[in-house]
Amino acid sequence: MSLVKIEEKANYCLHCKTKPCMQKGCPLGNQIPDFIQEVKEGNIEKAYEILLETTVLPGICGRICPHEKQCQGSCVRGIKGEPVSIGELEAFVFDEMMKKGKQKPLSKTKEEIYSQYKVAVIGGGPAGLTCAAFLAREGVQVTIYEKHNELGGILSHGIPEFRLPRETITQTIDTILALGIEVKLNQKLGKDFTLAKIENEYDAVFLGIGANQSAKMGVEGEKIKGVLGGNELLEYQNHPNYEGKTVAVIGGGNVAMDCSRTIKRLGAKEVKVIYRRAEEQMPAEKKEIAEAKEEGIEFLFQNNLVKISGKDKVEKVELIKTKLIQKEGESRLVPVNVENSNYQIDVDYVIMALGSTIEEEVLDLGLTLNKWGNVLINENYQTSNPKIYAGGDLAGMKGTVAWAAKSGREAAKNILANTKKD
Ligand code: SF4
Repeated sequence: MSLVKIEEKANYCLHCKTKPCMQKGCPLGNQIPDFIQEVKEGNIEKAYEILLETTVLPGICGRICPHEKQCQGSCVRGIKGEPVSIGELEAFVFDEMMKKGKQKPLSKTKEEIYSQYKVAVIGGGPAGLTCAAFLAREGVQVTIYEKHNELGGILSHGIPEFRLPRETITQTIDTILALGIEVKLNQKLGKDFTLAKIENEYDAVFLGIGANQSAKMGVEGEKIKGVLGGNELLEYQNHPNYEGKTVAVIGGGNVAMDCSRTIKRLGAKEVKVIYRRAEEQMPAEKKEIAEAKEEGIEFLFQNNLVKISGKDKVEKVELIKTKLIQKEGESRLVPVNVENSNYQIDVDYVIMALGSTIEEEVLDLGLTLNKWGNVLINENYQTSNPKIYAGGDLAGMKGTVAWAAKSGREAAKNILANTKKD
């Protein structure tokens, strides 16, 4: 984007005193009006410094946050017209700094006391990377343990490249590792090391291993060959050959959008997204839905999956139409099946993209879970073992990168505070 266009976008910001974009909209509490003010004045380095006070993922959040539900959804400009393009401006600041080779996040004053402490961060996704960075900035000796052969977690193994360029991920990771963080790759918790061993070796542990197991729906036929988990498909990219095939994707969130668009690009003849509510209730971002439609993805709204059938592999899905009703105590419309509206369609694969749960190995860690099946944490991000902190999807952080990052940052602050008390 040209500098003139960026200036235009920055000048559109009213620098509101009440800062709803920041106070209400941004999970990380980024100082949005202030960084935009610096962009207006051409002080990109200062804008970057302001962003780095609250985040180490500006290039990423600027691109993939659900802005319409977060900062831009709270922007005063959006009441009568279009909101300020906050995401674009944030990504612009990061990209400009990368062009200038300013890769190292600015360190705060290091307190001598922290340099004696060793913290293990398990999981190198948005929560783990953020926790590691905020600890390392204060001088703590941090080691990240990552199960894959590269860092990034969901950023590298979950979000397709058409939504998030690899270059942005690499640049972001480089800025974080420049703080002097040790990394141990191909290290899976429970397989290559135990939590007990790590707990003994470090002063504190942060767990940010995500929750990337696709949730099951419990319908007949879910075990038939050709029924695949959306999260696992995106994580491991072990796709079958879709050429000439029809694929049903069940769900309405961003994983459903990412799966359907990836599968279409891999040559599927038809991709049908099956969602039990209406388009307006879809949790996926409007932009993602619009792009999926442009790419030829078909949407079957107000349709519920009843059954999957096939002899040796998936052959059909049975769907039922739904109507939406307002139920007492429910904040959003509830889908109810319309009797006798069942019908079948021929499909070759069914992708379950209805949400995710923690991986089974987490159950062996001996940590207490909350009622939603995530690892229970207190207000200090401590698990039932006070030496072990957790964040991100593992602890149920709303499934967005910004919330995961916030949990990593806040856990780091609590680790520092508790460390100081020792
Ligand atoms: Fe600028 Fe919108 Fe935030 Fe107001 S609410 S400061 S216009 S970005």
